[in-house]
Amino acid sequence: MGGIKEFLGSCQLFEGLTEDELEKITRLSREEVYEPGTTIFVEGAAATDLYCVEEGKVVLEMTIRLGPGSGRKGAIDVITKGQAFGWSAIAESLTLTMSARCLEKTKVIALDAKGLWQLFDEDSRIGHKVMQRLVGVASSRLRHSRDMLAHILSVASHDLKAPLAAVESYHRVMLDGYAGEITEKQKNMLLRSSERITGLLNLIDNILDISRIDARELKMEPTSLLKVVESTKGVIQPLAEDKGVQLKVEVPKELPLITGASNRLQQVFANLLGNAVKFTPKGGAVTLKVAEADDHIMVEIIDTGIGISPEELHKIFDDFYRGVRVDSTGAGLGLSISRKIVEAHSGRIWAESPCPETGIGSKFTFILPKTLTTTQGEKEEV
Ligand code: ADP
Repeated sequence: MGGIKEFLGSCQLFEGLTEDELEKITRLSREEVYEPGTTIFVEGAAATDLYCVEEGKVVLEMTIRLGPGSGRKGAIDVITKGQAFGWSAIAESLTLTMSARCLEKTKVIALDAKGLWQLFDEDSRIGHKVMQRLVGVASSRLRHSRDMLAHILSVASHDLKAPLAAVESYHRVMLDGYAGEITEKQKNMLLRSSERITGLLNLIDNILDISRIDARELKMEPTSLLKVVESTKGVIQPLAEDKGVQLKVEVPKELPLITGASNRLQQVFANLLGNAVKFTPKGGAVTLKVAEADDHIMVEIIDTGIGISPEELHKIFDDFYRGVRVDSTGAGLGLSISRKIVEAHSGRIWAESPCPETGIGSKFTFILPKTLTTTQGEKEEV
């Protein structure tokens, strides 16, 4: 037991504990040895023990859903000597968020979570120290994940975008006839592959946007929402017409300017209107309403489409979330980017389904604070 106590004293979660405190924790411990490839626990199960690696390596894995029904395991972190894992056992919600698998023969110290809770109740100093260490360890892991994400995003932006942009420009050269004559069939094929590449470049931009959108990085200036609506309408109207969906725009004659990034706000309108058209069958209608209140401007996008189930309603603003009933293209980023943009403007966005006023389809609402009060002239009406 003396060896375990000494080891626990050198572990990241228990550094700084007195001999007496370590002794109490050691009483809750048991040593376990696992063969390479053994799964110690699985994601989604109840967390009953906290673990510290004494020897070996453990990979923490999470199921990454790539689309409805499909999922594969992704490695999130590798835990080595002296590090702890299975923190869910001592932090809400007591459900394991990852699976733990041994990469080599691994010796761990397992600590019974119920016993730990009881100990923390009896001796709040120990609880306080351990929780303080836990916060430190968790925030350093978070920093590590952020650095990894930044690295992945920089690879995505440079190493993926540059060759795709080059391929796209070769397509353009061929389509414009500068590389010799091409047949109608070749032209159609090139056009289609060019469209696919543009889609891929947009997707990469969207992935980059998730981390980039931040109030400090947006170029905020006096912005006319009426102009933003007008230009978005120009993009969405042809899509709606193609699909046989009626687009109605109800905006006031005048609106105060707001402080905002007009290109980003246009992205929000385009995402919400684009979705409304996408999820509304032929013969339906999409209505955009803009109204001014005392301290904010309210935008509503109402459709008569397929609607969103109550179980999905709270997930649709999450990164990469795509509805289970959805078979159309999309990476599930439009709404999460829209939410980030609205929040970077100190606004709020939410969805309701069915739309409370019509009893069908969906209604998306966002509000933006009025921070400037200059009023636009008649010429800027939509
Ligand atoms: P995507 O770009 O893949 O459409 P979004 O983030 O824009 O992703 O939307 C996420 C999910 O929210 C969609 O897959 C769909 O299930 C649901 N959704 C969004 N807008 C609507 C809408 N107007 N009507 C019904 N479902 C919607």
